[in-house]
Amino acid sequence: MRQPLIAGNWKMFRTVAETRHLVSELVPGLQAIKDVVKVICPPFTALLAAKALLEGTEIMLGAQNVHWETSGAYTGEVSPPMIAELCQFVIIGHSERRTYFGETDESVNLKVRAALDHGLTPIVCVGETLDENEAGRTAEVVSQQVRDGLAGVSLESIHDGTSLVFAYEPVWAIGTGKAATAPGANAVIADIIRPMLAERLAVSAAQAIRVLYGGSVKGENAAVFFSHPDIDGALVGGASLKAIEFTQIVKAASKSF
Ligand code: PEP
Repeated sequence: MRQPLIAGNWKMFRTVAETRHLVSELVPGLQAIKDVVKVICPPFTALLAAKALLEGTEIMLGAQNVHWETSGAYTGEVSPPMIAELCQFVIIGHSERRTYFGETDESVNLKVRAALDHGLTPIVCVGETLDENEAGRTAEVVSQQVRDGLAGVSLESIHDGTSLVFAYEPVWAIGTGKAATAPGANAVIADIIRPMLAERLAVSAAQAIRVLYGGSVKGENAAVFFSHPDIDGALVGGASLKAIEFTQIVKAASKSF
């Protein structure tokens, strides 16, 4: 049985002061909800402040990106050991990074391996664009992203599946208010992502790895996603910046478990 996981991707929103405010709003409600792994991913600059406020809670912290090198002359980048001092999770290969910052399946793979080497749990984002979807290329695109993202990743390095998370995020559903249908998202995960995880890793790992859905998840539509057996939670963008709404999504995941 995979315990649900809800991760909030704050993107480039919230200063340190704003982060303190939002975390203080989130903690009481989230702390009361059990049976769900709760993760928030503020910007790099706010991670330290968030970590201090989350001390003693079960709410975990994630970064939104990572470089693959341990250290070096890479101006503006942040390394896995730097993130591992503060976070348990790291989002890798978000479509905004693929679209605006030139990330490829190859760089995603380097980042996944580096994160695992430093004890971070990657949340690897995959998903097709609208054009790819309309051209009937979803299976081809998503299975390639999963396969290439995992090149050289061993079963041991993901602790049989518990230290790796995937997020199926159709690009056309992110920030658009047009979520995928829950049966449609479930089918991509069940028929494309898990079989590729089984091929690349092992059948047991494909069953153990959490696969989230992401794309316009809100308090009002969350429950229907979690009622589908292959959707193990959500990666939430916009709605993760509103304490009441994010808490509502976490509650829906708890009820489904
Ligand atoms: C995201 O940023 O990963 C995301 C799913 O955004 P939104 O929930 O706003 O669609």
